[in-house]
Amino acid sequence: MDKNWFSRHIRQVHVDFHMPEFPYDAIKGFNAKEFVAEFVRAKVNVVGIFTKCHFGNAFYDNSVGHKHSGLKEDFFGEVLEEAHKHGIKVIAYYSLGTDAYAVEHNPDWYQIDKDGNKRGGKGNVWELPCINSPYREELVIPQIKEITEKYPMDGYLLDIPYFWDHHCFCSYCKKKFAEEYGRELTPELYATDRQTVVQFSKQSAARCMQEIYDVVKSIRPEVLVNCNGAWKMGEPADINATSDYGLWESQPASGTFLCHSIRSRFVRNLPVPVQIMTVRFTEGWGLMSCKTAEQLKYEFAAIMANGGIINVGDQVLPSGKLQSGVYDVIGEAFAFVEQREELCIGAQSSKHAALIGGYTENWYFEQGDSATLGAAKMLIEGHHQFDIFYNDDFPDLSAYKVVVLPETVRLSERSAERIAEFVRGGGLLLAAGNATLSAGRGGAAFGGGHAGPGGAGVTSQAGASAVMGLSGASGAAGSSLGTADSLAARSAAANSGELGTSGGPGVQGTPGAPLPSPANFLLAEVLGVNYLDRTPYPFAYMTEHDELWQGTAAIPQLVEAPFLKVKPSTAETLSSVQWPLTVPAPQRAFRHPIPPAGRISDFPAITVNRYGSGTALYIAAPIFTAFWDNNHFWLRRIVDNLLNKYDTGKLFSMEAPVTVEANMMERDGVRFLHLINFQNGHSGNRKKSFYDPIESITPVHDIKVTLYDTNVTSVVLQPEGHPLDVKRDGQAVKVVVPKLHIHNVLEIR
Ligand SMILES: [Zn+2]
Repeated sequence: MDKNWFSRHIRQVHVDFHMPEFPYDAIKGFNAKEFVAEFVRAKVNVVGIFTKCHFGNAFYDNSVGHKHSGLKEDFFGEVLEEAHKHGIKVIAYYSLGTDAYAVEHNPDWYQIDKDGNKRGGKGNVWELPCINSPYREELVIPQIKEITEKYPMDGYLLDIPYFWDHHCFCSYCKKKFAEEYGRELTPELYATDRQTVVQFSKQSAARCMQEIYDVVKSIRPEVLVNCNGAWKMGEPADINATSDYGLWESQPASGTFLCHSIRSRFVRNLPVPVQIMTVRFTEGWGLMSCKTAEQLKYEFAAIMANGGIINVGDQVLPSGKLQSGVYDVIGEAFAFVEQREELCIGAQSSKHAALIGGYTENWYFEQGDSATLGAAKMLIEGHHQFDIFYNDDFPDLSAYKVVVLPETVRLSERSAERIAEFVRGGGLLLAAGNATLSAGRGGAAFGGGHAGPGGAGVTSQAGASAVMGLSGASGAAGSSLGTADSLAARSAAANSGELGTSGGPGVQGTPGAPLPSPANFLLAEVLGVNYLDRTPYPFAYMTEHDELWQGTAAIPQLVEAPFLKVKPSTAETLSSVQWPLTVPAPQRAFRHPIPPAGRISDFPAITVNRYGSGTALYIAAPIFTAFWDNNHFWLRRIVDNLLNKYDTGKLFSMEAPVTVEANMMERDGVRFLHLINFQNGHSGNRKKSFYDPIESITPVHDIKVTLYDTNVTSVVLQPEGHPLDVKRDGQAVKVVVPKLHIHNVLEIR
């Protein structure tokens, strides 16, 4: 079987069917032909179909486990056969981490929390079996074997391999932990050594997934296996290793419509195809509401235009039927996708900027890392061309012209060396706040003899080693320990005299002690600044710079985040930190809790440094976090002006509103510049509604696009197929896009 089918089938509906047995006529209306006819009508080419739900009910003719008592037919088998008749691929969904029937009939299989309580019985869908209990041997594996042997599915989606919050104290976990670690698994251990307990749980999940993966492959090697969440940013490598494709749930319910673009810009450079999954519901899974076709078109465009694969979630009615009206809407949106997908499938991103950032490890509705999200938002709204990478996992940078490091990035010394080499060779770097701020290694530079606990000593934040170790990326951080001429050592040496004479924070310590105060940036020499200290202010202002303040008021501009005091060594100051008059405190109140600007400090807010053949820009505050958290547009305008001033090798630029997103892809020498137009409705109650729905998107007219490539001979507006008038202008060519509604593509040859 052709294993590449997955990348070419981008119109999937995942049909949730978590169904209890108490509804009076549950699943009495199921009819496979009618069921699949909705998919056919809506141009669906992949469906996710249930074999077992969260309630533990099987939806196929089983000999192991419990079949839904209302279901007479072979739901999975009949839908599979009917779908295949219409050329629709079928992904078999299996609920692994939630199974109410299993735990209610085998109470010893329950996950146990740290207070000794079963995880369940709260009247919701979450009745949680432990994968270290015989649930795995006596139900999961026999069912997976039976399903795989019986049905020629195209893929698997295994849902929730993890323990709730990555810990369980059931007797089976305790037995396994004692055998592996030679000590007792207790809530006290969780309190004092959470990392070990979490690591044990994550390893258990990965091994369970490996066992299932091996079972499936031994029966049907061609079937693509996936574990929900695999290949999303920060997912453990051993979980990824058991997933032939990735799946990252992505709903505006997480608070932003940018989620699809940001996730797609990350997954498009991974070695496996990854689905970005939204839902037809306006809020959470299973709420029986339906978005507008206009909204789904926008969401689907944001996914496919940025290199992701579309998956949209639905839910079967208790009767076993689909809501036909939903497929009117999905059908209209998938027709829109069908018109454009040939322009998207198989294309690679054009390389220009690399946003290298971290991310939190939360689950589906995560707020995520504000710094990475804020940086991505700035770059999207400024029409910059960029890919996203996760901490040390970034590729050879030789194809890139710009690297952006948000303040939360966690980089090893080796990675910092690679970025230094990139700048030395002519690249442009933009770093903010704590980016590459090292805890210091002591040793030669400081004479403190602090070796650091393992690899943690070379990472920028305490806790980084835990993340890296669990994500399977361990080793990278510690790999260059002991390199005598490493950047950190040189930076530390350069800074040590100042620290010593000024009585600043020492970094002496004893092995195993907490990390010392930050010493300096791993990239201090590249940035041309050295770290000095923190400030008492939770916010401050930046002094005006004519060019960088274009489009903002000519006033000191507020950054609602704490600045760092850094001292330029070779960098030039473009803007200085201006302290607020004071901090809010008794007897020092102003009209607003954030006081006006006061003294201009001796410290830079924005610097530029020439390093080798390249340029390094530094902003001495977590500006990306401040932007994401406060939506202070002037921060984007200043950063945008800064990038536009120094980024001289752009692929394109345009005059368009910030709500128009641009992304360039390429395939077989042809480039595709995607333009996506976003517009949502007014907000109602911000505290109660997840997000503002999209009812209609107003077209944007006459977008002026400049392509910095004189070899361009033709630009065709797709999917309409209209050639655009190409005007030459020095080293560039210019076109005007007459009208952009939701998504157009400039096909450039
Ligand atoms: Zn357990």
